[in-house]
Formats: sequence, C-alpha cells, structure tokens
Amino acid sequence: MMGDSDIIRNNISDIIKRVGAAAEKSGRTAGEIHIIAVSKTIEPERIVTAVDCGMTELGENRVQELCEKYDKIDRECHWHLIGHLQTNKVKYIIDRVKLIHSVDRAELAEEIQQRAKKIDRPADILIQVNVSGEGSKYGISPDGVMDFVKAIASHSHLRVKGLMTMAPFTDNPEEVRYVFRDLNKIFIDIKKENIDNIDMRYISMGMSNDFEVAIEEGANMVRIGTAIFGRRA
Ligand SMILES: *Cc1c(COP(=O)(O)O)cnc(C)c1O
Repeated sequence: MMGDSDIIRNNISDIIKRVGAAAEKSGRTAGEIHIIAVSKTIEPERIVTAVDCGMTELGENRVQELCEKYDKIDRECHWHLIGHLQTNKVKYIIDRVKLIHSVDRAELAEEIQQRAKKIDRPADILIQVNVSGEGSKYGISPDGVMDFVKAIASHSHLRVKGLMTMAPFTDNPEEVRYVFRDLNKIFIDIKKENIDNIDMRYISMGMSNDFEVAIEEGANMVRIGTAIFGRRA
C-alpha cells in the first residue's frame, strides 16, 4: 500500500510533468514555471515531505498560520503570502515572506512600504487583479491596474514584480481561459510602459483545477494545493 508521503511524492512528479507539457504548448520549458505548493491547513510533516521533493516555495493565505509554520518547518524554503492581507498584520510577515501575491489597495501598499523601510529590506509584491469581476474576489479592477502600479512605483521599499489573479471556481477550466488571457494582456501592457522601479516578471495564476490552461495563457507562477496534498479537511 502507498503511504501518505508516497502519494505526495507521486502527485508532485505528476504535476511537474503536466506543468512541463503545458509550458511546451506555449513555447516554454518546465523550468520557466514556478510552482508554489499551497500548504494552507496542511500539517508540517506533510509539508516537509513536499519540500523534500523539491517544493521549496510554499504558499499560505493566513498570517498566523504562516508564522507558525515558518518556525516549525526545519527546511530551506521560501514563503509566499497568497491570501487577503489585513493592513495591521503586515508587520508579522514582512521579514518572513519572499513574495506577497495579494496587494489590492493603496493603503496596504503604503503599510508594506513603511514596514519594509523599517527593516531596511525592500518587499517584493504582486498586484492582485479581479479580472472576473466577481464580487466575492479581492483585487484591483482591470481598468485600474495601470494607474495603481504607477501610483506605487515611487515607493522606495516596494518592488512590484508582477500580477496575480484568482479565476472563478469551475469544473471546466476552459470557461476561465479568458481570465488568464486578460491578465496576460494587462501584464504585457504594463511591461511595455517600462515604468521605473516596476519589474514585470511574474504572472501568478492557475490552481489545481486550472493550472494547465493558465500556463497555456502565459502564467509563469502557479499556486497548487489540492493536487499535491489532496482535499483539504
Ligand atoms: C487555496 C489557494 C490556492 C490553491 O488552491 P487548490 O485548488 O487547492 O490548488 C491558490 N491560490 C490561493 C490564493 C488560494 O487561497
């Protein structure tokens, strides 16, 4: 019988193959796609198994959980804050995360700037865009992204590294292909502007049920939880 860590290991090797195939479809290689293993709600021992299989980039959506795991996981790895971030919690994660994927308002950008300045280390961030316009989703509206990026470009301790979106949940990823395509268009438009201090490098889009379509449409960072660890409790 396969143990739990064998299952995780198999899942990861399967995902790496699928990421590679999707990358090739869009003229790229697997190595160009960053996989973030979304470890929210997953126990530390199981996360360690994934890290030992090469999943050294870990995504969490809650500040307290990220901080607890940051202390518990005794491995070389990097943490990504992928969920909604309250302004008053920035101080807890500022020196612990490699990338904040979910910057969606000026007030939050300002707080990250202040906290990053305090620790004398620039913060790498992505701008979350609400491409689908679903009321339940956070994010800047597609029309507002260019102005938002320009407005925060002057912050000395913020480094905008790209864009992030979440597609509506669906069983048929073809239905949300337009979301990924639209975000890629916005990404390219902003990149073309060559704004000082803005380094459009990452498009973070695609989750367990839609990452292949996201990669075909230009994602170079995917956030995968369920397909690695199984259904969350
Ligand atoms: C939970 C989560 C994911 C991963 O979702 P899966 O469907 O389990 O792959 C990705 N991105 C964000 C922002 C999440 O909250």
